[in-house]
Amino acid sequence: MKRLIAIVCLAMTLAAARAVEFDKFFCDTTLRLDYAFAGDAVKHAIYLDQMSRLPRWWGRRAHLDEVPVAGDGTITVRDHRSGRVIYKHSFSSLFQEWVSTAEAKVVRKSMENVFLVPMPRDTVDITVELRDPRHRVTAMLTHRVSPTDILITRRGERDVTPYVTLQQADDTTRCIHIAYVAEGYTDQEMPQFLDHCREAMEALFEHEPFKSMRGRFHIVAVKSASRDSGVSDPGAGCWLNTALGSHFDTFYSKRYLTTLHLKQLHNLLAGVPYEHIIILANTDHYGGGGIYNSYNLSYTRGKHFRPVVVHEFGHSFAGLADEYPYGDDDPRYFSDVEPWEANLTTMRDFSHKWADMIDPSMPFPAPETTDSTLMTSRVGLFEGGGYMKKGVYRPVQECRMRTNAVPEFCPVCRRALRRLIDFYTAPGNDVN
Ligand SMILES: [Zn+2]
Repeated sequence: MKRLIAIVCLAMTLAAARAVEFDKFFCDTTLRLDYAFAGDAVKHAIYLDQMSRLPRWWGRRAHLDEVPVAGDGTITVRDHRSGRVIYKHSFSSLFQEWVSTAEAKVVRKSMENVFLVPMPRDTVDITVELRDPRHRVTAMLTHRVSPTDILITRRGERDVTPYVTLQQADDTTRCIHIAYVAEGYTDQEMPQFLDHCREAMEALFEHEPFKSMRGRFHIVAVKSASRDSGVSDPGAGCWLNTALGSHFDTFYSKRYLTTLHLKQLHNLLAGVPYEHIIILANTDHYGGGGIYNSYNLSYTRGKHFRPVVVHEFGHSFAGLADEYPYGDDDPRYFSDVEPWEANLTTMRDFSHKWADMIDPSMPFPAPETTDSTLMTSRVGLFEGGGYMKKGVYRPVQECRMRTNAVPEFCPVCRRALRRLIDFYTAPGNDVN
């Protein structure tokens, strides 16, 4: 017994020794990195645009060299002297969606991307990597950063966009920072924006696991005023002057409401406590989008506002996939590649998904039911999801990631979200 305890203690000591200590490698400030992702359907490239320093670091202080889910790309920070990985972050991007469009076959474009990493104490090498739906690397850039570089711009020290705190976390040293950002609200419409923020926040906390883990979230509302009210609708010939220049018809898809102005988004947030971003757009036209570790954007003036803003947060916060089929094949999923998203499988590597949550008596593929209780709770392998009717399986018949009609995430999405919240709020090595 004593020997077993000694072995366990040794294993714990080694694990602690391996963990990257935040204070040893980083300061309590943020290094903001702006990149251009450029290319077409065939070739992709990454260019460094600008670097800036923000007054505080609002991200995690534990699990620094791990990513919770793979995403479509990774940013990795290595200590220059030792080569050791000291920070890692995964993401998806609108550019990687665009490269599969018809337009990308005929023109080369570049798009803005912004990432936040803790400011290193010493020189680091930073690598950004993009991957395609087959998980193959399509572009990579490595560049050196010295924290004493005089051309790292200082942002967020003055002229900070006014914001209000909607919810204080129970423990502000280990919580998840969310900022709501106003898009298409004039100065006079800010009270309505704050009402919409509160409505979106309460909608999120009606869903598990957010409901029971509510105290882990610190939430602010950023009053970024627009000159015009509403958002641009290119299909209707309507272009407005708004804080983030968002518009419908992204990539010529009617309901796809996004902003491509990520630098402007982060400029508006400089000096605000934020990591995860929810943009509320002042429009009654149904629409929105969520990009993993980039942002969530939702319309606000309509009956689907509440389910849409929660659904898009599933994408932007946890990288959950859409569980609905469009009926036509999308090149995002292939039968010989297991998707990285927690709530879809092609059965290529199902053991790492929800195999442990399935009732062994459940037929394959799982039959659909008309019993509304079972529709949202019975875990199996339901065929259809990720914009495909065949060959992709989802965990439960109905889920917030599939339809606006059901009021909850399925058990598999709930577990994935819980794991993410635990990942971001684990106690840091240097923070008590
Ligand atoms: Zn689900």
